[in-house]
Amino acid sequence: MSLLVQEKKYDLHSHSTASDGELSPTELVRYAAKQGVHALALTDHDITVGLSEAGEVANELGIELISGVEISTIWNKRLIHIVGLNFDPSDAMLQSGLTGLRHQRDARGEKIAHKLEKLGVADALLGAKKFSAGQILSRAHFGRFLVDAGHVKNLNDAFKRYLGDGKPAHVSAQWVDMAEAVTWIKNAGGLAVIAHPGRYRLTATKLRLLVEAFKACGGDGLEVVSGSQDKKDTRKMADLSQRYELYASIGSDYHGPSQTWLGMGRQLPLPKECVPVWTAWTDHAGIFSSSNVNPAL
Ligand code: AMP
Ligand code: MN
Ligand code: MN
Ligand code: MN
Repeated sequence: MSLLVQEKKYDLHSHSTASDGELSPTELVRYAAKQGVHALALTDHDITVGLSEAGEVANELGIELISGVEISTIWNKRLIHIVGLNFDPSDAMLQSGLTGLRHQRDARGEKIAHKLEKLGVADALLGAKKFSAGQILSRAHFGRFLVDAGHVKNLNDAFKRYLGDGKPAHVSAQWVDMAEAVTWIKNAGGLAVIAHPGRYRLTATKLRLLVEAFKACGGDGLEVVSGSQDKKDTRKMADLSQRYELYASIGSDYHGPSQTWLGMGRQLPLPKECVPVWTAWTDHAGIFSSSNVNPAL
């Protein structure tokens, strides 16, 4: 597959300690700069509190910080992560929506701890909170507690034995409907992108249905290159993005040094035929924007 020659290195999906990342926003931006990233989006789960600190450090280091968030949404009873990019973080509708999701996380956390208690794991809520900066509570924090307390060997095991979908300490949450999350992002002036589309284990037909539903509610892009996807998936997502006229994004989904998949700044460039999502904000108007549509049609 031929690849786009990018003059700048973009990484539009990453996490800090504001959600379930291991590095503080400052450490994350420093690390991105060290890895040769020119433009970074910090996309914490359901929270944007790390953006101002990240923005200050990015300014000092001369790299570009793009506002981001990864929203936990539901489509067709499935958990789908939607990344918002380049929006106004002070937008009231977005912020009140994200606050609601964090309440969901707190309620779910209590239920997870209750289930773990029954499974013989004591003090899990307190334990998980020691690993979170107190702003959002993630299954990743429960996972780190389970490793630390010696209940499992590693994080992957924590999900396999306790926290993953269908496992004994799994609790589903009432996340926001995908269409509503897209509305929050668009209303705040941003672009909505389906995160790591290869990770949902959807059949080709279901994946097309997801993309069609996303398009129908005003979604803009697809993460064609993701740290957790292989080359075959990249090819598949590049084709989908072209077919449905969706912008293509690149993101490592970096969570910190102990992550096992491809780290920050090591992603492939986008396939040549893709339209990079950043052209929507670096050009006057992206080629998929309504101003490029013939008004006579
Ligand atoms: P949550 O958003 O609280 O449901 O937690 C999901 C997060 O847990 C993801 O964003 C990942 O960071 C992490 N995660 C999910 N599955 C695994 C796994 N198998 N191994 C390690 N981390 C995982
Ligand atoms: Mn995560
Ligand atoms: Mn995700
Ligand atoms: Mn992520």
